[in-house]
Amino acid sequence: MATTTAEIQAFTASAFTTPEKFTSFCENGGAPLGGVIDGKRVLGSMNATFQTTDPGSQEVLATVCEMGEAEVAAAVDAATRAFQGDGVMGWRDLDVEERIALVNRLVELCDRDRDVLLACEIRDGGKVSELAEGDFTQIRECAEYFSGVARRIPMGDGPAMQVADDVQGFTYREPWGVVAGIIPWNYPIVLTSWFMFPALLSGNTILVKPAEDTPLSALYIAKLAEEAGFPPGVINVLPGRGEITGQCIAEHPGVRFISFTGSPGVGQAILRACDRHGTRMKREMGGNGSAIVLEDADPEVVGRLIGRYTNQHFGQTCCTIHRVFVDKKIADDFIDVQRSFFENLKIGYQADEGTQLGAVVNPTQRRRILQAQQEAASRGGDPILCGGVAEVSGRDGFYLKPALFRTTPDVDCNPAEVFHTFATVCAVNSPDEALRLANASPYGLGASVWTKDTQRGVELAKQFRDGTCQVNCHNSIAYGLPYGGQGISGGPGAGVNCEETFLDYTQVKAVYVSEYPG
Ligand code: NAD
Repeated sequence: MATTTAEIQAFTASAFTTPEKFTSFCENGGAPLGGVIDGKRVLGSMNATFQTTDPGSQEVLATVCEMGEAEVAAAVDAATRAFQGDGVMGWRDLDVEERIALVNRLVELCDRDRDVLLACEIRDGGKVSELAEGDFTQIRECAEYFSGVARRIPMGDGPAMQVADDVQGFTYREPWGVVAGIIPWNYPIVLTSWFMFPALLSGNTILVKPAEDTPLSALYIAKLAEEAGFPPGVINVLPGRGEITGQCIAEHPGVRFISFTGSPGVGQAILRACDRHGTRMKREMGGNGSAIVLEDADPEVVGRLIGRYTNQHFGQTCCTIHRVFVDKKIADDFIDVQRSFFENLKIGYQADEGTQLGAVVNPTQRRRILQAQQEAASRGGDPILCGGVAEVSGRDGFYLKPALFRTTPDVDCNPAEVFHTFATVCAVNSPDEALRLANASPYGLGASVWTKDTQRGVELAKQFRDGTCQVNCHNSIAYGLPYGGQGISGGPGAGVNCEETFLDYTQVKAVYVSEYPG
């Protein structure tokens, strides 16, 4: 963490030059990029393509084939064969060290092609380099963490117990089989890694459904996986729209388990589809994170740090801070700092030096955000900065200004995730009032307390309903600690990035054994 106030800056872009290897991958010799099924590039029977663009310029980066019902069925067949091993040893039967060796090889190839994967995040995802570089490190960290977990967690037979005079029982832990990861657009590399490594290392074969706005990194990782030597069918990538490709995955009974990351509404719809045929599902969904700032906090330091988090990936970060509850004694000073931090954000193209607030991902998001800014005012929020459209010279992207509203405890002008550099600040009389208001949200992903009295902060933080509660920090994520949501933000399961995550990708059966009667 920065030590002086001036060092606390927003995530910032260094100038980024697109590598030739990325461009030639996207151009694909003039042909659209196909999905990856059974180790082959597949154009798809629907004969449908879509374009993936740079949100900061609307430049078309690549044309991608959309996968439909037939391709989902083919991918499930291929993944099933790869899991079971069509007459040879299947992925499920490989020794864990063999799976780890392939994962390590894939990670090495990702390291070799770091600049291509950074281009996926920066050009396709619209992210500034400071954040994209941090995201990239998650590939290795996640793979190494789950390799360790895979070595520790015993699969197969558990210890036997005598359940009756002549009956023994034991548990049997095994991978599900074919599992699918449905991924959103805001952190494609991170979230693909968080799904892919525990799912593969526990012995499943996978379908990856990237978001339609950011399909490139998953397609590139599939290419590297082939080079690494993964058997065909172990990793399949199915690009396409949610309501087409995603829906077909949710409706296919051969998919035993789905890991979904995205918005609560879509997660709820997929859960209903899955439930019709018994596919299990875990969901990591949106948030509307809160921060409580106590009287003893320095408004200058904390105001800037909260500004940095609120603006992380231009506010398009699921657990970040959008609702602030600040002691009334320091509220005016705090709001002044927040306003100044937001006003001074450098709005620009995400690959240009110094940019801190780039374009949002697509026109639908821009429309939603503009509407939410207006609704915040009409619901009684007092606009300190009212947002609106921003212009960036020479760039035709989806640029918006930050928005900041002052509210009071009786005004609920920020009920749902807005997903931009958008925050409401409410002056409160006490920490208890702040907690009550913070916990009144239906979401429950991330929350923090800011105070010099760390012990008091810990006591308060434990009272959030959120899955991740922090003191004097926010958006911290560590392997070994669960990252998951309460309320409409997640569930079931422990969340991601802990041992329980690995267990989520396995099923446990009970086996009873008795001697043959008579
Ligand atoms: P989204 O819910 O619109 O889409 C997520 C994925 O679901 C995409 O791949 C999409 O194509 C697919 N999808 C959409 N409709 C579908 C359907 N009917 N059937 C099957 N699949 C379907 O979310 P988004 O806009 O891409 O991402 C932003 C959301 O993700 C925000 O709410 C954000 O907070 C959340 N998010 C949560 C976490 C977390 O860890 N909790 C992390 C990142 C993002």
